Amino acid sequence: MPALQPARGTQDLLPDIARRHRQVSETARALAGLYGFAEMATPIFEFTEVFARPIGEHTDIVSKEMYTFTDRGGEEVTLRPENTAGVVRAVLSNGLTQSTPLKFFYSGPMFRYERPQKGRFRQFHQIGVELMGVATPQADVEVIALGNRILKELGIADRVTLELNTLGDPQSRTAYRDALVGYFSARHSELSEDSRRRLERNPLRILDSKDPGDQRVTGEAPDFSDYLNEASHAFFARVRDGLDRLGIAFRLNPRLVRGLDYYTHTVFEFVTTDIGAQGTVLAGGRYDGLIELMGGPAMPGVGWAAGIERLALLIAEPPAPARPIALVPIGEHAESRALPLAEQLRDAGLVVDLGYSGNLARRMRRADRIGARAAVLLGDDELAKGIATVRDFDSGEQREVPLDDLAMCLRALG
Ligand code: ATP
Ligand code: MG
Repeated sequence: MPALQPARGTQDLLPDIARRHRQVSETARALAGLYGFAEMATPIFEFTEVFARPIGEHTDIVSKEMYTFTDRGGEEVTLRPENTAGVVRAVLSNGLTQSTPLKFFYSGPMFRYERPQKGRFRQFHQIGVELMGVATPQADVEVIALGNRILKELGIADRVTLELNTLGDPQSRTAYRDALVGYFSARHSELSEDSRRRLERNPLRILDSKDPGDQRVTGEAPDFSDYLNEASHAFFARVRDGLDRLGIAFRLNPRLVRGLDYYTHTVFEFVTTDIGAQGTVLAGGRYDGLIELMGGPAMPGVGWAAGIERLALLIAEPPAPARPIALVPIGEHAESRALPLAEQLRDAGLVVDLGYSGNLARRMRRADRIGARAAVLLGDDELAKGIATVRDFDSGEQREVPLDDLAMCLRALG
């Protein structure tokens, strides 16, 4: 039988990579806490309708990327492709809409049936925040500030650029949509197959096309700012002003639209050119219509999600874990004393590794392989005298230590 392989687009997070992921998620979790966001976790799968309606039938996610199946009980379920819809569903199911503002942080796996490539997987991981119940632009500024601070703390702030745009309120968006349909219809023949399809369903997405032919057409497309009403202009001005006051630099990108249908007003992305084509590391915006669309009260919201895989590629090597002490029993009696002694040393806060089996040479090789700081050699004769031998791998020195002093002596090695 050939060796089993992981499913396409999935990967194992072996310890070195898992450590990078944890560095990202723990940094984000701690800083989200600093801003008063509380962690929540929603199920990895939901009834399909939780995602289908809010994300929008005409988005890539719903039309071709969802992992949807009928379970054994005949229910239509979907592995979550993103977490905003799940968080909103949880807020509604648990009747949390009374005490706003609501501030949540999440971290976990998401699933999309995509063509795998560098920085793009079928199972990937996101961290994200949602702030619900605040209609003022301060909320947009604060969630961006949190994203910015996380990137700074991860040491990658100078490798990313914040891009900012507004999609206006629904009235402005409809006016712009109509203008786009008019413009693109006139240049229909120049558009790619994909974009022609988007023309009827989701014309704003054409602006986002990576096709060079499309980009020639979108370059001359009408500008959203000409279709923004007064209120939308004013809202966006306050977001920009708020960012200026915090010293958060941004670049206006009038072509920035988000993949999901539910965004209004502010949209933003932190992008980098350092990891190839998949350069968006953190992306989000305001979604004022979403909660009502999902059957809740009319309640505004703003948030973002960031791809852990892409962030993990950018960060520096996280601090190495503490080097272990290798416990090496030699002889039958020592063997039976090893586990209790290991527990004692762990009580004292030491990282202890037990090789379990093999002769002295083999266990010393293991100690070397795991980068042990020192080995504790435990022979039957020594045990009888109440001592053990400590071999310091860095200095090469070896000495006898009373068992009672062992923890202290090992801790002193640092
Ligand atoms: P893209 O344009 O790259 O497809 P998107 O608009 O679909 O991105 P979002 O839904 O906004 O992405 O997700 C937020 C972030 O999650 C992205 O900026 C990216 O960092 C990460 N992400 C999204 N899809 C994937 C994936 N398939 N593999 C790895 N990371 C992903
Ligand atoms: Mg996508």
